[in-house]
Amino acid sequence: MTKPIPVTSPLLPPLEDFLPYLEEVWESRRLTNGGPMHERLEQELASYLGVEHMCLFANGTLALVAALQALRITGEVITTPYSFVATAHSVLWNGLKPVFVDVDPVTCNLDPARVEEAITPATSAIMPVHCYGIPCDIEGIQRVADTYGLKVIYDAAHAFGVRQNGVSILRGGDLSILSFHATKVFNTFEGGAIICPDAKIKKRIDYLKNFGFADEVTVVAPGINGKMNEVQAAFGLLQLKHLDGALMARRQLFERYHEAFRGTPGLRLVSPARGLDWNYSYCPLFVDDQRFPVSRDALFLRLRDAGILARRYFYPLISEFPMYRGLDSAQPKRLGNAFDISRQVICLPIFPHMQEREQDVVIAIVLDAARA
Ligand SMILES: *Cc1c(COP(=O)(O)O)cnc(C)c1O
Repeated sequence: MTKPIPVTSPLLPPLEDFLPYLEEVWESRRLTNGGPMHERLEQELASYLGVEHMCLFANGTLALVAALQALRITGEVITTPYSFVATAHSVLWNGLKPVFVDVDPVTCNLDPARVEEAITPATSAIMPVHCYGIPCDIEGIQRVADTYGLKVIYDAAHAFGVRQNGVSILRGGDLSILSFHATKVFNTFEGGAIICPDAKIKKRIDYLKNFGFADEVTVVAPGINGKMNEVQAAFGLLQLKHLDGALMARRQLFERYHEAFRGTPGLRLVSPARGLDWNYSYCPLFVDDQRFPVSRDALFLRLRDAGILARRYFYPLISEFPMYRGLDSAQPKRLGNAFDISRQVICLPIFPHMQEREQDVVIAIVLDAARA
């Protein structure tokens, strides 16, 4: 049996290229607490992404939790059920109530009209997700937020480097959160960041991620330990150099999938809109079993039996898990679109060093099922 093909695999530059960075860390004897690597990565990443300010974090989930704290969100937070559990978990960890709203079946993102319908006197924020790095209707969501005086915190964990008409989508809303987990487009083993619009809010978030310390003897908030360490930051600096090549490779793989499945009844891939600089972070394939000969789950099993470890992102919905399913907003009948796409989706393997012959195996299995 050949080696299994994972759904994703981290971008890992040659080990010897990392050694000089480690030597620098050893020489500085600064291992964490905003050392030189951390400062450099914040600057280089902000400039690479085309944003003003950012606060690095130990992981994306801590960044989400801290973002809700930073804006003093209270009561109810409107969010999507079609995401990774960390989105809604961050709301619960703040003692807040998530309110799930249905998504658009094509973009997989929150629909501003439905967001508006879900607002109550207790609502204080919207937490949308740029699912698969496809931008939300940022203007539509902002219009609703402005009308009702709500904050917008984007879970942009999938949206590293995505630009719309030349502008980073990470500039949308009040804050945006990135994840640099090993499975993401850009990784620091574990890591994350909050993108913020001005230096004032950055300062407050920097306190929050360091226990609330404003200086040696002053604690201004019940902060958390959310700091990114120097080895993580150093790895980020190295990886940044390889990113353009990695994105190009992802794009080529995505276009090969697109070409292969074009015109096959019952199959749909996401298709990035005009003017979008996408990051090809995922390759979600939607299987409509009314029109495709085998079900999504049957295709999933066929792939798995052949050693192709595709994943059903996002299935089940967050709203189906025990800590959420009792909520009024979690009723499946209210979340019809999210329910449907979660039953159709398979994310196919896509990662920078994936070989074309590996991809051909994946394509052959899908097309073979189409002929069944
Ligand atoms: C990966 C991910 C997170 C969590 O990020 P971590 O860095 O793993 O904590 C949050 N939201 C979404 C949508 C994600 O995909």
